[in-house]
Amino acid sequence: MTADPVAIARELIRCRSVTPEEGGALDYLQGVLGRAGFAVHRATFTESGAAAVDNLYARIGTDAPNLMFAGHTDVVPPGDEAAWKHPPFDGEIAAGALYGRGAVDMKGGIACFVAAALDHLDASGGKPKQGSLSFLITGDEEGIAVNGTIKLLQWAAARGETFAHCIVGEPSSHEVLGDTIKAGRRGSLSGTLIVSGRQGHVAYPDRADNPIRGMAALISALQGPLDERSEHFDSSNLEFTSVDVGNRTVNLIPAEARARFNIRYNDRHSATALKTLIERRAQAAAADRVHYSFDWQPSNADVFLTKPGPFTELAAAAIAEVTGRNPKLSTTGGTSDARFIKDYCPVLEFGLVGQTAHHVDECTPVKDLATLTAIYRRIIERYCA
Ligand SMILES: [Zn+2]
Repeated sequence: MTADPVAIARELIRCRSVTPEEGGALDYLQGVLGRAGFAVHRATFTESGAAAVDNLYARIGTDAPNLMFAGHTDVVPPGDEAAWKHPPFDGEIAAGALYGRGAVDMKGGIACFVAAALDHLDASGGKPKQGSLSFLITGDEEGIAVNGTIKLLQWAAARGETFAHCIVGEPSSHEVLGDTIKAGRRGSLSGTLIVSGRQGHVAYPDRADNPIRGMAALISALQGPLDERSEHFDSSNLEFTSVDVGNRTVNLIPAEARARFNIRYNDRHSATALKTLIERRAQAAAADRVHYSFDWQPSNADVFLTKPGPFTELAAAAIAEVTGRNPKLSTTGGTSDARFIKDYCPVLEFGLVGQTAHHVDECTPVKDLATLTAIYRRIIERYCA
């Protein structure tokens, strides 16, 4: 009997698992995977100032290599539910599409990997032909992500779990299923630039030191591309997102100006080297005339790249076999939990078309669920054979 990814996806969508609520989604997966012979563990993590979050780890097989599938059952809120043509937590099918919050991000992807794993186990006598299969599923990806994947990986490592490779089932496809694998992400680093001057009357600028002049000089020296693109990445970019003086008075030169910025950076930099580069550029532009300082925010989103090799080739071959498409290896877009997993094993992100993620009437073509299941099945077979 073949497992039905559409039925699994509908069950998951019907769970109201808006971060940090478990909503029954992990309970459901625990039941399905447990019945298929997986050893299923639940782990709740806490941290002061953040909601406690429930997570799940399941494994079948004890041998290496352990192929891990990673994902999240939590979803972003639906917003105004009346704005949805198809209610966000009903899992309705209309005109060949499955609707609901999480249909593409990413209950649909989880359903496909579960169905692919069940089919594989069914065909191979109830356990992987070789190695192990595991699921690392968090309920804290769409929130602040402190009680999810990062702690679940530490928990698994403390139990002696090791991972050979990982596929994150985020909706990586761009226009059509199979066109894109995400094989890395740019790093993200944020900070505030503070320029200080001397307050004074606007009619006597010689008796004051206007920090806005210095801020303008530093902004034009710092903003924009920071390098040429690298082999696998776009160029690094510094973007100012807010410039603040907070001055409500028309005849006053303010004492201080602040500007917030974010840098998306490629593999030519580390976060530390990047700070040094930015501080040097600021120093050159300031030329002892402008008094400034930087306040850097802590970051856990370093750049990473899973280099093309046997694992990327295996995934690309499975996609080509099922869809006839040769996927592009991409590193564009925002960060994901892959940034934590890359410290444990090589990781790729591959899943549904992400265009309606976080939108009203989020949906996926039903046929994409069947196709993605077939792709995951090929990946598992090539991996475990
Ligand atoms: Zn997601």
